Amino acid sequence: MQNTTTHTNCLRCGRTLTSAKSCATGYGPTCARKIRTSAVDLADYKPHQVQSARELIADAAITPLRSVVFLTASTDGTETYRSAPTACTCPAGLKGSHCHHQLAARLLLAA
Ligand SMILES: [Zn+2]
Ligand SMILES: [Zn+2]
Repeated sequence: MQNTTTHTNCLRCGRTLTSAKSCATGYGPTCARKIRTSAVDLADYKPHQVQSARELIADAAITPLRSVVFLTASTDGTETYRSAPTACTCPAGLKGSHCHHQLAARLLLAA
């Protein structure tokens, strides 16, 4: 599922994307930088989860669905989850654990 979609508009601000890189990631350079540097409380997360969340965003494997809900792809790309900053339909999220999907949603909303 990764790298199969190209985007024509920024997933965050809706502006037309011009560079090939932006079309692949789904974010324009300004939004990509804001997302990279967005400050959220990472205390609940382990470093590998933070990395996974950032990879999820970099791979455009998380896309906005509505308001605070995002569609996310599982690591192997075979499943899709609905993820919000405090809830997720992935196996870990359903058990009430913090998952990197929730973190990615948080990072995007904080950007
Ligand atoms: Zn943008
Ligand atoms: Zn999850």
